Amino acid sequence: MPARSAKRNPKQAFTLIALLFGLLLVAIFYVWQALLAAEQAQARARLQLEANSLAAQIEARFEQQTATLVRLAQRWDSQRENPHLWQADADRLLRDFKNFQAIEWLDRDYRMRWIQPLAGNEAVINFTYQKDHPNYPVLVMAQRSGSPHLSNTFKLAQGGQGLAYYVPLYRQGTTGREFDGFLLGIFRVEVLLADMLRDLRVNRLSIELEERGKTLVNRPTSDQLSNSWSVSSPVVLGENHNFALIVHPTQHLLDTATTHLPLMIMISGTMTALLLCSSLCLAVLGARRNETLKNTNRQLQAEGARRQATEESFKHNQARLKLIIDMTDHSHDALFIIGLEPQELVYLNRTCWRSLGYSEEELLQLSSIAPKDIMPDVAKWLHSVKKLIHNQGNAIFQQHVRNRAGQLTPLEISVRHLRRMGRDYLICVGRNNSEQLEIAERLQRLSNQDGLTGLYNRRYFDKTLLSEWRRLRRDNMPLGLLMLDVDHFKRFNDHLGHQAGDDALQRLATSLNNCLMREGDCVCRYGGEEFAVILPGADLPQCMHVARRIHEAVGLMALPHPETSNKSGLLSVSIGAASLQPMPEWSPHDLIKQADDALYRAKAEGRNRTCCADQDEQT
Ligand code: GH3
Ligand code: MG
Ligand code: MG
Repeated sequence: MPARSAKRNPKQAFTLIALLFGLLLVAIFYVWQALLAAEQAQARARLQLEANSLAAQIEARFEQQTATLVRLAQRWDSQRENPHLWQADADRLLRDFKNFQAIEWLDRDYRMRWIQPLAGNEAVINFTYQKDHPNYPVLVMAQRSGSPHLSNTFKLAQGGQGLAYYVPLYRQGTTGREFDGFLLGIFRVEVLLADMLRDLRVNRLSIELEERGKTLVNRPTSDQLSNSWSVSSPVVLGENHNFALIVHPTQHLLDTATTHLPLMIMISGTMTALLLCSSLCLAVLGARRNETLKNTNRQLQAEGARRQATEESFKHNQARLKLIIDMTDHSHDALFIIGLEPQELVYLNRTCWRSLGYSEEELLQLSSIAPKDIMPDVAKWLHSVKKLIHNQGNAIFQQHVRNRAGQLTPLEISVRHLRRMGRDYLICVGRNNSEQLEIAERLQRLSNQDGLTGLYNRRYFDKTLLSEWRRLRRDNMPLGLLMLDVDHFKRFNDHLGHQAGDDALQRLATSLNNCLMREGDCVCRYGGEEFAVILPGADLPQCMHVARRIHEAVGLMALPHPETSNKSGLLSVSIGAASLQPMPEWSPHDLIKQADDALYRAKAEGRNRTCCADQDEQT
């Protein structure tokens, strides 16, 4: 039970054991007390027997002491007529039994008539017991019963304590047996009692003779036990019931009367209880230890399993990491990780250093000492990248990297910001996108190019005119525009065919392009056989100058026109020129309209000429 309880609640088990120990101690104590009480009761009974025996011995001795006096009294009737004989008997008695202080005769009136020895006792001759005398009731009882009676102690006239033994006397009278006084023996108490107690086998006892609770004689021993061990036995001396013998045992007697059995039982019981409870405690502790060991074993097993799982997971992760690194090394993309604060290249895959023509160590070293040698504007790039950390977290950058041979390669870098273990990291995936860039550029170019002539198209014209308008407005400079239209081109087509018309348009485009001298000037196909020339910064005279050059170039092309009103019979163009200082209240449409109007006028005025926008319209 304690073992099961110990598993659940050890404290409860110990409390139960302590309770059991307490109960056992109480039980042992009661058994010990019961055994002690039984032994003491037995010892006391033995003591009482001994006291009774002693009392009987004392009574017998007293009988012995007084027997002579009784015998003397029995001879009274025969010897009272002969006083000398009586006197001689009394003397003999006094001589033989030293305990008698005196022998006296009281007549039937209780008057002292005779005393032996007389010497020293003359004063009591004729003394008469009155009713108020303490011994008077004793005399009456002795007379009535006819048997001798002993008085209580009294003070002797000669000093000291005395006892009187009254033996009634009878004589044969005329009417039969008649009371004739008392024969009286006076004892000295100390002497009588000392004699009675002498030779009593009381060496293991301390004895005391009492008269009505008052000690008459005491024979103590050195190892007398306390009064609680005393026993009392009544001593009847001459019909006097006032005496008692008090017996005190000695320690020695008690030792022989009692045994060590209760103590032994108490000690052995306590030891057994102690052993039993200790065994139970040990069993509880053992059970607890077992439980703890089991728990520890379970924990160890769990820990072992956890470690094994961790190890397997670690191996698995290691294999995965190896695989990932292997795969990233075989990737066409350059993967590199930059740790920030402090800034360092934490990881780079094989593509990084191979594509640039370095070894891994060389690239790592170079990146730490001269990163500009790898990426020319690395500082600017890193500045932009760091801004990401506070903004969106990832972005794509277009950068250039320089290889070992010094060649620059475009690199599209996708950057993702991560924060791990309190540190910021940039995970960068770089890809050589030169092909894509070229395609994009080509597409861009195509989207702005006219398919037939290769010139910029109308879309590009609109875009460029607007951007130049804005730029020149900021710079406070004029923007010039020429609007061109081939003269009678419909008829050209009609006569020479559409293909010939296309060829003519292509040649015209080349010629127009050649007429432009300044950077920023551009010629666009405005639509059909119409062209527009943007001349940033050109005022109207400068526009006119370019227009003249165009006319000359077109003339030099010398494309015969089968049906024209021109005298030359060659293909010609009409031009409307305009130049405006961009103002907030105007727009590029105003410039186009002015150039268009001028073109309309050039057509109207006979073609193959340039008209400029009305100066008044400009203001
Ligand atoms: P004007 O002098 O008044 O400008 O007379 P025009 O005939 O040139 O004017 P119109 O607008 O009547 O005709 C323009 C012609 O240009 C019509 C069309 O056949 C021709 N054209 C427009 N685009 C092309 C092109 O891409 N290829 C060819 N071959 N012809 C074109
Ligand atoms: Mg036209
Ligand atoms: Mg035309």
